[in-house]
Order: sequence, then C-alpha cells, then structure tokens
Amino acid sequence: MKTQPQLPELKRVVLIGAGHAHLIAMRDFSLRFLEGAQLTVITHHSYALYSGMVPGIIAGHYSPDEARIDVGAVAKAAGASLCLTEAIGIDLANNRVICRDCSSVSFDLLSINTGSSPSSDVPGVPEHAISIKPFEVFLTRFETVRRTIIESGTSVRIGMVGAGAAGVELLLAIHHRLTREAALAGQGKPRLQFVLFSATSEILPSHPPALRRRIKRLLDERGIEVCTDCYVEAVKPGAVYIAGQGRRAVDVIFWAIQAAPPAWLRDTGLALDDKGFIRVWPTLESVSHPHIFAAGDVASIENHDLPRSGVYAVRQGSFVAANLRRAALGNPLTAYKPQRDALYLVSTGDRHAIGTRNGFALGGGWVWKLKDWIDRRYVRQFPGSDVGRG
Ligand SMILES: Cc1cc2nc3c(=O)[nH]c(=O)nc-3n(C[C@H](O)[C@H](O)[C@H](O)COP(=O)(O)OP(=O)(O)OC[C@H]3O[C@@H](n4cnc5c(N)ncnc54)[C@H](O)[C@@H]3O)c2cc1C
Repeated sequence: MKTQPQLPELKRVVLIGAGHAHLIAMRDFSLRFLEGAQLTVITHHSYALYSGMVPGIIAGHYSPDEARIDVGAVAKAAGASLCLTEAIGIDLANNRVICRDCSSVSFDLLSINTGSSPSSDVPGVPEHAISIKPFEVFLTRFETVRRTIIESGTSVRIGMVGAGAAGVELLLAIHHRLTREAALAGQGKPRLQFVLFSATSEILPSHPPALRRRIKRLLDERGIEVCTDCYVEAVKPGAVYIAGQGRRAVDVIFWAIQAAPPAWLRDTGLALDDKGFIRVWPTLESVSHPHIFAAGDVASIENHDLPRSGVYAVRQGSFVAANLRRAALGNPLTAYKPQRDALYLVSTGDRHAIGTRNGFALGGGWVWKLKDWIDRRYVRQFPGSDVGRG
C-alpha cells in the first residue's frame, strides 16, 4: 500500500487589528503569499479610516469615503480570512485570542496592531466629552454637534483638551469648518469661541520649536485661546475642571490627550511597559512571548522612545511581514531600525499645511498639496480603495 506524502502542517498566523502596520503587512502578503501559513485577521471594522485624512474630513475637504480603506479587500488579496469582531483577551496557556462575539481564534503566531486612543480615565470623559477615537464614532458625533451649532445660531464655547499634533490639527479643522459655515449662515464669528487646553507649559511639547511657533501664531491670528499649564482633571456637563484653577465653562468638549494602550492587554500576561504598551524587541517580538509580535502605537520597542505616529507604524509593517514569514519557516528574525527623524505634515484647516523635519518647518498651500498627494497615494495603494483617487 502506498503511503500519502506528509504535508507540512500550516502555521496558524493571526493578526489582531487592521492598523497601518498590518495593512502594509497584508499588502506585502498579497504580493507574495505567506508560505506555510494560514492567515486570519481579527478587526472590528470592515473599513479602516486613514488618520492622516481625518482632519481634512472634519474641515470639509474630503468625504469619509475618500479616506476609507477596505480591510475586507486587503485581507482577501492577502489570502487571509476575516473575523469581524473585537479581540478582548488572549489565553496564553492555550494560544487563543478571545473575541467579543464569544468566539476564540487559535494561533501559532500572533501579531497585535490595535493602535492607541486618548486616555479616558479622567472622571466624566466617557459621558461628557467627545473622544477623537474611534474615528468613525468621532465623525458621527462631530456631525451632530456641527449641525446643532449651525442650526441653533446660539453662542457656543468649544474646547479641545490635548495640545499634541492630533488635538491642534483637529481644532484648526473644526475652527475652519464651523466659522466658515456660521459665516455662510449669516452668523458672526464672535458667537463661536475656541480654546485649546494644554497640560504642559508649551503646546506640541514633543515637536520642534519651529513648528510650535508657527502654530502658535496661527492660533493667535484665528482668535483661538490657548490655556497652557491647564491639566483637566474632570469633565462635567458644560464645563471642564482645571487642576488648581477650578471650573471653566465649555459647551462642547473634544478629547485628544496622550495615547493610551487598550486596557484588555493588562490581563493577558504579556510583558508591558509602565504605561501598558507591549514591550517588544527590535524584531517586534514580545520580550516575554517570542511567538507574539506587536507593531505601531501599541508596541514599545526596547531602548527606543519612538513617537506614536503613523509614519513609524507604516515602516514597521514591512518588518511584521518579513518576520512572520521567517518565524513561520523557523528562520532567524530581522531587526527593525527606526529612522532618526520623519517628515511630519500638520494641516491647518484651510488647505494649508506645515511640514517639519530635522527641526525645520515650512508651510503654505503647496505643503497641503504635497500632504494631499501623499495621503491619497497611501489610501490608493490598497485594493478596493479607488475612493482615494482625487
Ligand atoms: C487626527 C489624527 C491625525 C493623525 N495624523 C497623522 C499624520 O498625519 N502622520 C502620522 O504619521 N501620524 C498621524 N497620526 C498618528 C497615527 O494615526 C497613529 O500613530 C497610527 O494610526 C498608529 O497606527 P497603528 O498601526 O498603530 O494602528 P491604527 O492605525 O491606529 O489602527 C489600529 C486598528 O486596530 C483596530 N482595533 C483596535 N482594537 C482592536 C481590537 N481589540 N480588536 C480588533 N481590532 C482592533 C482599530 O479599529 C484600528 O483599525 C494621527 C493621529 C490622529 C488621531
């Protein structure tokens, strides 16, 4: 009797989250399949909204569709099965991902790319503030606020808590959209007041002084108040409470403070840093569990203090792909070497942008055009994303 040749067992490779890094990794797998593996992607949204274009959506320059990446199409092209659910835990003893819909997904190799969200453990934030993440929820809530403000015609005080790049960029976009629409509706500017709350003595604390100066000037020109050394310690309906200063009336409160990791990671048993991000080696494998990888905002690379930005997450995507390939075949891994500096482009609401690199800053309409071209090209590289063509 003839014996059947033994087929090598396929490794079960599971990706949690379809963030920048995993989208790039899947794109890589679509060009060259992941050999010796069976790939599954767990994501709770079938579309990923590209963060770089979110301020442009708020400002009214893009429709949400123009910034959406079809995760289903990307997964299909990569030969991956799609699980449309949210991961809520990892059972490390049995190598299973636990999902919100009560299912579980077994893995031999796992990669986590779930991003980060503004920390919301300040009292009153979940109930009374509008977090900028998740983006789809933020866009819906902004739309409701926008309509109410424009239709009511009453005076409104709008606050953005968090003066990092995302908070500043979004506040400039909100200001542009609302003041323009209020003017078109025949209502004057003075009825809308804007304030940016910064817990530190400077806005954009982790960005070069040249960018800070330009943004400060713009905020000033547009009549946006900046409240520095204002740590918001509580939010209540119609007000924020500032440490050492007390109550400050604000009608609509947007929340964009520093990035925090998903809370469910705490119970997984993975080694985390003091803020709760997953500690990984430069190979992006967990320092405690070598068959688990993490990339993008959720990862904390040993001996590197990288900014949580899409530029780095995108770059790590190719290393996720390369190292999952190597790990699936039992080959040695390759180490990610972060670039020293990256071009960072901040839009300013009005089809202008400021770009910084190596401490220098340049601004203007042409910088917006460059950003628009880069952002559309990013979205367009994924299958099914014809919407990125402008
Ligand atoms: C308004 C704004 C503008 C920005 N602009 C820029 C910019 O111009 N340039 C730049 O470099 N950076 C920018 N950033 C920062 C950038 O967005 C982040 O650094 C980047 O998104 C991180 O990418 P990531 O790969 O870690 O994950 P993300 O792209 O954040 O994606 C994580 C994905 O995982 C999914 N997910 C989360 N939890 C789960 C779960 N439990 N189960 C399943 N799926 C899950 C989420 O739905 C999401 O789709 C901006 C950020 C904001 C807020």
